[in-house]
Amino acid sequence: MPATDTTAVLDRAGIDALVAALVSDGRTVVGPTVRDGAIVLGPLDGADALPWGWGSELEAGRYRLVRRTDGSVFAHTSGPQSWKTFLHPEREKLWEAERSPEGELTVRATEAEQPSYAFFGVRPCDLRAIAIQDRVLTGGHYGDDGYARRRNGAFLIAAECTEPGATCFCVSMGGGPAADAGFDLALTEIVDADRHEFLVRVGSAAGARVLERVPSRPADGPTRQSAREAVDAARDRMGRAMPPVDLRALLGTSMDAERWDDVAARCLTCGNCTMVCPTCFCTTTEEVTDLTGEHAERWQRWDSCFDLDFSRLHGGPVRASSRSRYRQWLTHKLSTWYDQFGSTGCVGCGRCITWCPVGIDITEEVSALAQEARS
Ligand code: SF4
Ligand code: SF4
Repeated sequence: MPATDTTAVLDRAGIDALVAALVSDGRTVVGPTVRDGAIVLGPLDGADALPWGWGSELEAGRYRLVRRTDGSVFAHTSGPQSWKTFLHPEREKLWEAERSPEGELTVRATEAEQPSYAFFGVRPCDLRAIAIQDRVLTGGHYGDDGYARRRNGAFLIAAECTEPGATCFCVSMGGGPAADAGFDLALTEIVDADRHEFLVRVGSAAGARVLERVPSRPADGPTRQSAREAVDAARDRMGRAMPPVDLRALLGTSMDAERWDDVAARCLTCGNCTMVCPTCFCTTTEEVTDLTGEHAERWQRWDSCFDLDFSRLHGGPVRASSRSRYRQWLTHKLSTWYDQFGSTGCVGCGRCITWCPVGIDITEEVSALAQEARS
């Protein structure tokens, strides 16, 4: 449902009440929390668990939490997880089988009851990533029933970005720090010497019903203006940018580029970039049995195109070199994704840059490919 013009203003008590309303509806509310030195998505039983007064400093291969004096709650950027951790979890049981003492085999599909999620603080890049995974996992050849069940009931509260990270480049991927669609409610944090408030916009009928139960005041013009200015300023402070070239065409014609050797010499093929990427969706399946051999289960788990076994056919892997695996990942992400799913597979969240252990930067690699193509 498209965003509506309905706006209101919440204060800290309003945020508390918003989380409490979603919890009282029986939802599993998930949002950013501070854990293990990072912003980690976890269950919230109240707004106190949110990262009030924490920010983050990012660079290629580097992530640090920093204390802030202004008490902001959304002044950090995304941590290592994305919402796929919940919608498309890293492990999921698909079915189990039992052999009776008489030798009769019973196979049961796993129809586990799915939580009714409310995601609190979804960044605009991650809204786009969820929309991309929706197209992949509910829209065609690769349907995933578990994903669809979790996604159908999910309530999304967006948090617009006012403090972009040094590895963020959403604007150059056609997105931005503003939330345009795909949310039930959208928050914009406004912090200055006199106030700490949140402009809230309604994006769906469900969002309007929840907002009615939360103490708020109508939004006035100056508050709306302050929120717009904060988001516009963030747009002008993006940490990075993709080069302004036709990425689909560039990657589609760079199969033999020398740059692949350069990046392959640095890439550890660890797969971190695919694990943290909010759009990467590849999975494999594995069977496990107990020691009696009478109980077996089939599990789906995340897989990575950086794994040697990922392209194994009879006789060995198709992509045996790190050059071919990095090229596959980047070319799919920025080019052949269009052929399969009608859009780019990258939303510019910057996670793959931050969490690459050797600091490989997707924007730098694409710039080098573009330069090589021009020379
Ligand atoms: S680009 Fe970085 S994160 Fe990705 S596989 Fe290579 S070393 Fe790992
Ligand atoms: S490729 Fe990197 S920047 Fe793009 S969506 Fe994935 S993790 Fe984010």
